[in-house]
Amino acid sequence: MNNVFLSPHPLVATKLSLLRNVRTEPKKFRELVREIAAMLAYEATLDLATQEIEIETPLATTRGQKLLERIGLVPVLRAGLGMVEGVWELMPGAEVWHIGLYRDERTLKPVSYYNKLPIEPTVSVCLILDPMLATGGSAVATVDILKKWGVNKIKFIGIIASPEGVTRLQSAHPDVSIHIAGLDEKLNEHGYILPGLGDAGDRLFGT
Ligand code: URA
Repeated sequence: MNNVFLSPHPLVATKLSLLRNVRTEPKKFRELVREIAAMLAYEATLDLATQEIEIETPLATTRGQKLLERIGLVPVLRAGLGMVEGVWELMPGAEVWHIGLYRDERTLKPVSYYNKLPIEPTVSVCLILDPMLATGGSAVATVDILKKWGVNKIKFIGIIASPEGVTRLQSAHPDVSIHIAGLDEKLNEHGYILPGLGDAGDRLFGT
């Protein structure tokens, strides 16, 4: 699958197994989502542009690197919120722009209910945070919103994806890389990923 980065890291695989377990309580679940999100973001940002700078150590002057990109974290409400803190720890200068989408029961299409993006883009790269890439509807809609805003460098960071979600996001936006911890078997008739981990929002927020 083009542009899909399934983490090869043994720590990610181990944490994902704990996350899937139905007996994992919300507190531990939140901790695992935070940790996995940080590790995936570390892998996803390998190609960010840097600029060479001069720095002084206590002993000498040397060359160093400064991040050139302005990063926007874009959690998709509500489950994406669980991924923010872990990623933000790694890049504290990032801006966080929330996007809220719900699925219209009649048309089954995602409808935006929260979007406070200013007119002009304030970042050069966006990391979309959403733990479950299920049907791909909200991921495609979020990328549509960000491209319309004027950001063209976009990466999707999820935790588990379905083959259907990956295909849908890739066909709509082949330029968006997809960074995940697990690629599962399929969707069930209710749009849940199998074997998956259940409802990520419910498990994060104890609802
Ligand atoms: N959203 C979830 O939280 N879980 C799924 O399996 C699919 C979508």
